[in-house]
Amino acid sequence: MAKQEDVFKKVVSHAKEYGFIFPSSEIYDGLSAIYDYGQNGAELKNNIKQYWWKAMVQLNENIVGIDSAIFMHPTIWKASGHVDAFNDPLIDNKDSKKRFRADVLVEDYCLKIEDKENKEIEKAAKRFGDAFDKAEFVATNPRVLEYRAKREAILSRLAKSLEKEDLADVKALIEELEIADPDTGSKNWTEVRQFNLMFGTKLGASADSATDLYLRPETAQGIFVNYLNVQKTSRHKLPFGIAQIGKAFRNEIVARQFIFRMREFEQMEMQYFVPPGTELEFYENWKKTRLNWHLALGLGEDNYRFHDHEKLAHYANAAADIEFNFPFGFKELEGIHSRTDFDLSAHEKHSGRKIQYFDPERNENYVPYVVETSVGLDRLFLAIFSTCLKDEVLEDGSERTVLSLPPALAPVKAAILPLVKKDGLPEFADKIFNDLKFDFNVIFEEKDSIGKRYRRQDAIGTPFCITVDHDSLNDNTVTLRYRDTMEQERVPVSELRRIIDEKVNFRTLLSKI
Ligand code: ATP
Repeated sequence: MAKQEDVFKKVVSHAKEYGFIFPSSEIYDGLSAIYDYGQNGAELKNNIKQYWWKAMVQLNENIVGIDSAIFMHPTIWKASGHVDAFNDPLIDNKDSKKRFRADVLVEDYCLKIEDKENKEIEKAAKRFGDAFDKAEFVATNPRVLEYRAKREAILSRLAKSLEKEDLADVKALIEELEIADPDTGSKNWTEVRQFNLMFGTKLGASADSATDLYLRPETAQGIFVNYLNVQKTSRHKLPFGIAQIGKAFRNEIVARQFIFRMREFEQMEMQYFVPPGTELEFYENWKKTRLNWHLALGLGEDNYRFHDHEKLAHYANAAADIEFNFPFGFKELEGIHSRTDFDLSAHEKHSGRKIQYFDPERNENYVPYVVETSVGLDRLFLAIFSTCLKDEVLEDGSERTVLSLPPALAPVKAAILPLVKKDGLPEFADKIFNDLKFDFNVIFEEKDSIGKRYRRQDAIGTPFCITVDHDSLNDNTVTLRYRDTMEQERVPVSELRRIIDEKVNFRTLLSKI
């Protein structure tokens, strides 16, 4: 556990030290769970967005992208169910005065049981060595079975109580399990209450005529209310999808995990409109497609798993999360939901407009069903950043910190480094910079020793360093250093664009999906 915490601390401090993520309004002591992306963070985030947009919109002939406004008509949130049901169960500790999500307290308790389960498995694996059959052990070992049954019983009771809105039982569960405030150990809890997560604001200048608005808590509704416009103007037949990247706002009760849970964050969502009755097939397909999209990043297959929802949201008939192994354990990264015709039907009812599709094959009108894929951009950033951040001990015993980002996502693709600040080397390097800058985000750096400059580029994930030395002036070649292997080779200046492009091009990444 301590080790995990150290890894997480290192991630947060590295993100700040190297210009990826800063606490928002830091000179005023910050604002809780709000963060700003710095010069390298903004580049990395934009590249992640591009990877998603290209894969979803550009590679799919039947998916289009939109950009809807953050402010929307307030009735939208009534229709979508957010005004009545977008709540989290909240509990306060009377001694520490700290606020928690009641469901998360119980889930964390279950994660601890899962840890114990995993330790039993690890111990047995060590004891039996090569002869260890994990599947059989997990299916037959009484301790593992006991832990698993306990976990499942707790989670299923939690799901049922939440479903029935039986908040007294959620409190009873917390008391029966003797769950304590993780920081102080106090078990002195208040009742569990529902807390609406939407931020409210006002539209209009005068107090009497101002309209109450919400900052959107998800981007999806901007897609639903544009369904008719997009379908008519794009003339797509079902199935077709609408994708969007944009900000969402949630007044989260507990927001203590850096950019994992923020109050202002970005979502990348796609709503796929399908004929009724076909939604579960498309749901299964999207689960596979989205997992493959993640796997193409090369962060390791073992870092992902599916989690089917025990408690379905009011709008869904099937739902699963793609969970990622963050520095603090497996948590939701992306949600894939079969949302039925809930949203479009609700908007039909509340707006009085027909939101239907005429299906020429079935020769009938109907409200399309929807399968949604929804991934948090910031969570994805954290997944990529924390997994790629590595401390390495080199052959000569020295150490380096390297951010081994997929090259297409790296903020800077190449650093151009004159060996010394004289003898015409900076001018030569400048020419290379001015040539490559039209194709790639490159930087020019002449300060500090070459070793220090290499380390700085490793730490921000730059795949290539190009060093200009005295020989360059004579033979038009430079030293090209590769971030991951640290190998160096001599290459002609005229070859640089091709070599860099081959590695950092989105095509290389997209073709792995
Ligand atoms: P959680 O259970 O973690 O609160 P959720 O199930 O409410 O998440 P969804 O409503 O399905 O999340 O939103 C889709 C995606 O948006 C999530 O998978 C996550 O990646 C991202 N997301 C949701 N809330 C936040 C947040 N507060 N900060 C950052 N990303 C978020």
